[in-house]
Amino acid sequence: MSSLLPTPEPDRDAVLAFVGHHLAGLYSGPLTGSHAFVGGQSHADAALARFDVTGYANNRNEVWPAPRRGASGLSPYIRHGYLQLSRVWNHVSGPDEDVARFREELMWQEYARHWYARLGGRSATSVRNDLAGSASGAGRWDRSMACLDMCVEELEDDGWLVNQARMWLASHWSVRQGGRWVDGEDEFFIHLLDGSRAANRLGWQWTTGAGSSKTYGFSRWQVEKRAPGLCGQCDRSADCPIEHWPSDPELIKLEPEPLLRRTIDPIAEAGPHQTERSADPEIVWLTGESLGDDDPVLRAHPDLPVVFVFDEPLLRRLALSAKRLVFLTEGLAELAVERPVELHRSRPGVALAGRAAAVTFAPVPGFRRLLERRADPVHVAELHPYPWLRRPTGGTVSSFSAWRQRVSEPAGV
Ligand SMILES: Cc1cc2nc3c(=O)[nH]c(=O)nc-3n(C[C@H](O)[C@H](O)[C@H](O)COP(=O)(O)OP(=O)(O)OC[C@H]3O[C@@H](n4cnc5c(N)ncnc54)[C@H](O)[C@@H]3O)c2cc1C
Repeated sequence: MSSLLPTPEPDRDAVLAFVGHHLAGLYSGPLTGSHAFVGGQSHADAALARFDVTGYANNRNEVWPAPRRGASGLSPYIRHGYLQLSRVWNHVSGPDEDVARFREELMWQEYARHWYARLGGRSATSVRNDLAGSASGAGRWDRSMACLDMCVEELEDDGWLVNQARMWLASHWSVRQGGRWVDGEDEFFIHLLDGSRAANRLGWQWTTGAGSSKTYGFSRWQVEKRAPGLCGQCDRSADCPIEHWPSDPELIKLEPEPLLRRTIDPIAEAGPHQTERSADPEIVWLTGESLGDDDPVLRAHPDLPVVFVFDEPLLRRLALSAKRLVFLTEGLAELAVERPVELHRSRPGVALAGRAAAVTFAPVPGFRRLLERRADPVHVAELHPYPWLRRPTGGTVSSFSAWRQRVSEPAGV
């Protein structure tokens, strides 16, 4: 049976109909798109043009009401390569303090990518501390509290949260309720349009103490500071379950994973320095890691047809919320207006069988697995370097500060 799918028009209704019909069984929850974000290069460009960094340093942690927020909301576009970190880095201009703070956050994103490129699947277990007492399923969020209810609603409806709200939810799940951080991470991953194992896993480990030296406690104090007035609207205000700080969970120190200190395979981790070519490519294979116009392989081959594969076994297993697939499809539908795009529902190795593909390296374990599979490997005729902000050099990724000391400021990237 052919895995080729029709290409939808780039509008929400057409994309919803496409996802509902052709990607049935590959998503979880109701068939809806994000209430706040539309996928695609034009929407990424517009979001970047709208973003004013002024006040970012003071306001990036503000949660509610939305107009007080200083966060850029660019992460879904950064996650999928519509906005490369170097472009965002160069774009921002404004007060020095705000630009510096914002760029440091971009460095956090780059650090998360380096960390995950190094550890891959081992990132889930290479923790600094075991959280004694973490119980499966004990997390969850109490929706009778206005602060948690608002954050969970935003997570589920928009697929996005400001960093502070992510910390609240992660802390409540694990630090106060004793839920396993990996379960909470999975719950985020289902919904977040920017969901990556790199930044999401790192964020959960950092907040809960699994990957840092201390835990982040969440209490009413933060809500009053970052969402002033919200407690006044909360039915639980008089018996607030988070009135006081949670007690610190017991952290059991573990032996550090040696890979955190140095790499054993720099090329497997960072990908090629230069384009590697073994044959003339017939198609461009796009992955979810780099869907934007600046993607190296899209730029290198403006005339080749583009192929994107909805990886059936992977998506069935992940059961992401529909809004993540809607976001991806919106971007692909927009690209299809510019150039020929083939969409498949299959396994990449099967959908691309017999065709020489050009692709951009993706620093995630799933990409390497697709090239190395014994059955149905993808035939990569041309491999383009990943657009790192700073290319990994093999040294420590054991903490952001240790990594940051070694990584020089990108200049004129
Ligand atoms: C528990 C938890 C889970 C998280 N999961 C993810 C995730 O799956 N994907 C993801 O991209 N980020 C994740 N983050 C990091 C951060 O919360 C988001 O990147 C940020 O909130 C996105 O909103 P923004 O674009 O408005 O960020 P801004 O504050 O405007 O920052 C600009 C950009 O810098 C990067 N950035 C900012 N903070 C961080 C950070 N702490 N770590 C890594 N990159 C950062 C992002 O690319 C972001 O788009 C998580 C954080 C926590 C605490």
